[in-house]
Amino acid sequence: TDTTSLLLSRIRDVADYPEPGVMFKDITPLLADPAAFMALTEALAGIAADTGATKVVGLEARGFILGAPVAVRAGLGFIPVRKAGKLPGATLRQAYDLEYGSAEIELHAEDLTTGDRVLIVDDVLATGGTAEAAAQLIQRAGAEVSGIAVLMELGFLGGRARLTPSLDGAPLTALLQL
Ligand code: 5GP
Repeated sequence: TDTTSLLLSRIRDVADYPEPGVMFKDITPLLADPAAFMALTEALAGIAADTGATKVVGLEARGFILGAPVAVRAGLGFIPVRKAGKLPGATLRQAYDLEYGSAEIELHAEDLTTGDRVLIVDDVLATGGTAEAAAQLIQRAGAEVSGIAVLMELGFLGGRARLTPSLDGAPLTALLQL
């Protein structure tokens, strides 16, 4: 579609970043283009509505940039999932594996309640580790995942298969398959 080609045209491939052999997908040209940023926001807000979301969770850091306008557009509250140690209140913490080592993310537990349906928003689904940990945090807080919505899915990394068990039938929607 027109939206798909607009979004795709505003993503920049950066070779060997952040390390040799990686082709990094840079979304800053898309953010700098108001028509593309608006189209992306509208598309993700539509997914929030379609999945019956009551809250939007954004994953640090690019998920904040995309998730916040989506939440406003959809008329929903925004909740940041942050790298461990950044949130001041009482948190739930979830560890997940990286290629080398592990990482931890956190959520303010009181921001979610039983009955909330949460759309997880991020720019890129790679291995799925970050989104899987976020889904686990949401479920531990007593809420449900309404879906995961990303701009890009890097299909060759197998994130979709890894996430499926945590999704309980909720949809994983990627606007672009790369
Ligand atoms: P995962 O946990 O799925 O392996 O990694 C996803 C996280 O890494 C996302 O939060 C995403 O922002 C970041 N990420 C991984 N690869 C890329 C990339 O090529 N471009 C961008 N913009 N982010 C990436």
